Amino acid sequence: MLLESFSDMKKNLTCICGSCDFSLKFSYDKPAKGDKFFFPIENNYLHEIYECARCGHFLAWNSFDNTVLYDGQYAQTTYGDKLKATFDNIINLPHESSDNAARVDNILQYVDGYFPDNSPKSVMDVGSGLCVFLYQMRKLRPDWQYLAVDPDPVQSTHARDIVGIDAVQADFMELDNHNNCYDFISFNKVLEHVFDPVSMLAKAKGYLKKGGLVYVELPDGSEAAKEGADRQEFYVEHLSAFSMPSITILAERAGFVPLSIERIRDPSRKYTLRAFMNMEGAR
Ligand SMILES: [Zn+2]
Repeated sequence: MLLESFSDMKKNLTCICGSCDFSLKFSYDKPAKGDKFFFPIENNYLHEIYECARCGHFLAWNSFDNTVLYDGQYAQTTYGDKLKATFDNIINLPHESSDNAARVDNILQYVDGYFPDNSPKSVMDVGSGLCVFLYQMRKLRPDWQYLAVDPDPVQSTHARDIVGIDAVQADFMELDNHNNCYDFISFNKVLEHVFDPVSMLAKAKGYLKKGGLVYVELPDGSEAAKEGADRQEFYVEHLSAFSMPSITILAERAGFVPLSIERIRDPSRKYTLRAFMNMEGAR
């Protein structure tokens, strides 16, 4: 994408709620403290965070093209050659300091209360990354079925060969084998990386069984912003950060009924919003 089109995008910023009324919240002329992403640019690094006056949603604007995040550089930049070591490190974290362990505990508690029977479930994890989530799920529910979907060839191979989880290397938006055969579909810190989170979430409807459940986890921009600019939630890899109203709007615009939305602080101290949703509403 050309710089001009990014400038245009800045002029035409439109929020998930439809509003165009934004104020500049944070501006970075170099990567925020702790932000490891490297872009091959020299003098024009500009990363800005805009806050919607109506719903409190945050949108990023960059002076450079960060679509490289989707062509395999993501794992390369974030983990380098240490993919396996990073995976081992995360799965061996003490239970109480693991975001992933807390996530899985919360999900299984909700899922066990939600589904009327305890038959094995089928799970699709979109943007599966290092696959620590499905690894932990399988440990606790070994008879369930799992599919990891990730566009990154390195991470996808890792999921299949190292973790031993069925994996599809694809951009979820380009999958076309619609089949409503999943009981549970998760987007763990994924939708903040894409330009159109509503369309991506809406696409899950084509894969969800009747009565199935979707889980979404997103950075909580509202809480993070209270601590200033140097927060992971606003790193350059994120195109958006959410508020309680904007995660609700996301779910509803994608055609889901939000059943539960919570604001939490992860063991790693990230600010997170998490939501369970379905297509039918409360039972
Ligand atoms: Zn808004």
